[in-house]
Amino acid sequence: MSENVTGKVSMEKLVSLCQRRGFIFPSSDIYGGLSACWDYGPVGVELKRNIKEAWWRASVQERDDMVGLDTSILMNPKVWEASGHVTKFSDPLVECKNCHQRWRADDLKENKCPDCGGELTEPQLFNLMFKTFMGPVEEAANIVYLRPETAQGIFVNFQNALNTSRKRLPFGVAQIGKAFRNEITTGNFIFRSREFEQMEIEYFVKPGTDDKWFDYWVEERLNWYIKLGIKKENIRLREHSKDELAHYAKRCFDIDYNFPMGWSELEGVANRGDFDLKQHMEYSGKSLTYLDEESKEHIVPYVIEPSAGVDRSVLAVLCDAYDEEIVNDELRVLFHFHTDLAPIKVAVLPLSRKENLAAVAKDVYADLRPCFVTQYDDTQAIGRRYRRQDELGTPYCVTVDFQSLEDKMATIRERDTMNQIRVPIPALRETLQAKLAGEDLFVLPEGGQIWKEGD
Ligand code: ATP
Repeated sequence: MSENVTGKVSMEKLVSLCQRRGFIFPSSDIYGGLSACWDYGPVGVELKRNIKEAWWRASVQERDDMVGLDTSILMNPKVWEASGHVTKFSDPLVECKNCHQRWRADDLKENKCPDCGGELTEPQLFNLMFKTFMGPVEEAANIVYLRPETAQGIFVNFQNALNTSRKRLPFGVAQIGKAFRNEITTGNFIFRSREFEQMEIEYFVKPGTDDKWFDYWVEERLNWYIKLGIKKENIRLREHSKDELAHYAKRCFDIDYNFPMGWSELEGVANRGDFDLKQHMEYSGKSLTYLDEESKEHIVPYVIEPSAGVDRSVLAVLCDAYDEEIVNDELRVLFHFHTDLAPIKVAVLPLSRKENLAAVAKDVYADLRPCFVTQYDDTQAIGRRYRRQDELGTPYCVTVDFQSLEDKMATIRERDTMNQIRVPIPALRETLQAKLAGEDLFVLPEGGQIWKEGD
C-alpha cells in the first residue's frame, strides 16, 4: 500500500537531494563556492539538456516559421548602447550604514536593513552588466560586456537570418545560451543566479497583427510547460500593469510558477513593438527592414518575445515532479518526471553479482544503451536500488534474476505505480520504446506476463 504524504517540497530538502543525487552542486565547492553560481552534476546535466532539447524541438524543429541561431556572448559594446542596457539596465542599490550589507531598494518592504535594522544609504543605480576587457590592455576603450540576455544577438542578425532562411513574415528566430547579470540580491537556489541560461524567441510580425500573435504566444508557451507535465494548478499567467511595463513594451505577461518561496516569474512574454530593430537601425546606420510584397513598402516588423530561463525551468520541473509516499511503512521519495525529461530512462539491475547473471544483464545493458540513457547498477539490495532510481526519477527498471537464465525473460518495473511485467529479453528494447512513448505498462509483447512483486 502506498500513501502520499507530500505538500509543497521545501527548498532545503530539494537542494540537499539535488546535491546528494548529482543534480546540482554549488560552483567551486572545494573553495567554499561562489555566490549565486551553480554546477550541474551527472544527472542534472541530462535533465537540463532534455529541457533545452524539448524547447528547441517545439520552437524550431517542429515549426516551419522558425529558425535557430547561436550567437556570441561578447558583442560590440554599441549593441548595449542601442538596446538601452548601458543607461537603463540598473537596479536601485542601498547599503546598510551599520553592517554594510547591500540590498535592492525595490525588494525592501521598510526603509531599514532587513538583517540588523540599520539605517540605509540613499539608493544608487547599479548597472547589472558584467564588464571585462578585450585584448591585453585594461582601459576604458577596451571594455566589453558579458551579454545580460540572448535577445540582442537575434536582433543584430535579423537581416542575416531573413536573407539566408528566405522566411516571410510572420517568422521567428530562437536561441538558447548563457546570460550574465551581476544581481544585487540572489538566492532561492538556481532561481536567481549571476550566470544562467535563457531560451528566447523573437517572433517578427507585421505591425497591426501583433496583438493576435501576442495572444498566440502567451497560450503556446503556457501549454508547453503543461505538456511537459507541469501541473496546471502550479502555473499561472500574470499581466503586467501599465506602471510595471518596460518603457518600450506594449504588453507583457509573466508565466509564474508556484515555487517553494511562492509565485515567481518563470518566463516573460512581451510585445516589444519595433523598439529593438529601430534602435539598432539608428545606432548601426544599417537597414533592418522587410520588403512587404503586398504594399511594396519597406516596413520595420513588430516583435513578440517569449523569454524563458533554462534554470528556472529546471527548478520548476524538479519542484513539480517531487513526491513522497509511504510504502510498506517506509518513505519513498521520487521524481515523476515526464519521460522526455527524465535524466535516465532505464536502469538495468541484476539481482546478484554472480557471473552467469551479470553476463546476461550486461548483454541487456549493451543492447539498450544505444537507444536510451541507461544505467547499470549492481551495488546493493534490489529494494535500495529501486529507491535510488526513484530519487533519480528513472521511469523504468529492468531486473535480471536467476529465472531469467532459464526462461530468457526479464522484469520491467514502472516508477510511478511500481507495477511490473515480465517480457522476453529480445523484446525489451521495443517494449521500453513503446512504454517511454506513453503505452500502458500492461500492454504486453508476445510471450509477456504480468508479474507480481514477491511471486
Ligand atoms: P526578474 O524580474 O526575476 O529579475 P526579469 O524580468 O529581469 O526577471 P527577464 O529580463 O524578462 O527577467 O529575463 C527573461 C527570463 O530569464 C526570466 O523569466 C527568467 O526565467 C530568466 N532569468 C532572468 N534573470 C535570471 C537570473 N538572475 N537567474 C536565473 N534566471 C534568470
